[in-house]
Amino acid sequence: MKNVIVVGAGTMGNGIAHVCAQNGYSVTLVDIKQEFLDRALATIAKNLERQVNKGILSENDKNATLANIQTNVDLASAVKSADLVIEVVSENIAIKESIFKILDENAPADTILASNTSSISITKLASFTKRPDKVIGMHFMNPVPVMKLVEVIRGYASSDETTAVIMEISKLLGKIPVEVNDYPGFVANRILMPMINEAIYTLYEGVGGVQEIDTVMKLGMAHPMGPLQLADFIGLDVCLAIMNVLYDGFKNPKYAPCPLLVNMVTAGKLGVKSGEGFYVHTKGSKELVVASSFAK
Ligand code: NAD
Repeated sequence: MKNVIVVGAGTMGNGIAHVCAQNGYSVTLVDIKQEFLDRALATIAKNLERQVNKGILSENDKNATLANIQTNVDLASAVKSADLVIEVVSENIAIKESIFKILDENAPADTILASNTSSISITKLASFTKRPDKVIGMHFMNPVPVMKLVEVIRGYASSDETTAVIMEISKLLGKIPVEVNDYPGFVANRILMPMINEAIYTLYEGVGGVQEIDTVMKLGMAHPMGPLQLADFIGLDVCLAIMNVLYDGFKNPKYAPCPLLVNMVTAGKLGVKSGEGFYVHTKGSKELVVASSFAK
């Protein structure tokens, strides 16, 4: 395996391209506009520079990594010589369907098609192709260059060979892969999101305030970040979408999203990305200030 195509150059795509290129793969990063690709390259260069400043990467390795990355806005032509494709486009099934159809039609027949989806069924993505045995989940964590885990999700038809290849590549990228099966939320979000949702219920029912809930979980459970702060970082819209995947997938009321979460998303309070969620997020400031709706 040499040529890796990373489709989608957003938050996760630039991190995945960075890690693949740093470990010697020839990477082509694809997005719909050249300006998105230029922005991703600038982010990768900045993050590599940070690694150089910390003494964990040499200047030569930084330059070699950047030299391993090309960009392309034409997906069909970019995948013609792909050994592996990692799909990292927006979490929207209609967009992913169109991407998987283009990949299946244009990538060589033996190319593995992996998806970084947080919650969309791998079996569903595989059904958009004629090679369901070669479709698999490769779920990196944010920020990709830092986080060790790759959740490797076997779809209903993913073959043993495809799984073994993806486990091996994940290790070559310096990650620790964990194999799981394709059910709603997989393992990571099946456990994380109900915990966040329960924290929001705890706030909604007045059991504790924002700071109290986060402090209990930080000090009591040794979590680096409280669940409400984490929800702000992930994006409350993303948390709601994943709760809905669990609720729809299992038809079990225990996964019903908290009405407060629904209201906040409807009101545009999405967390860090909108400037306010449970906390106020001011650019350049790391201070944790509880949003006025929850201040005591
Ligand atoms: P993002 O919005 O930052 O980036 C998505 C990118 O996909 C954008 O650059 C967009 O222009 C591009 N895109 C959209 N349609 C495209 C198309 N037709 N062809 C090529 N590129 C296209 O999103 P993200 O946070 O990087 O998430 C990407 C995927 O990773 C999603 O499936 C998400 O669930 C998953 N994920 C995200 C996180 C996270 O913390 N952000 C963590 C794990 C997994």
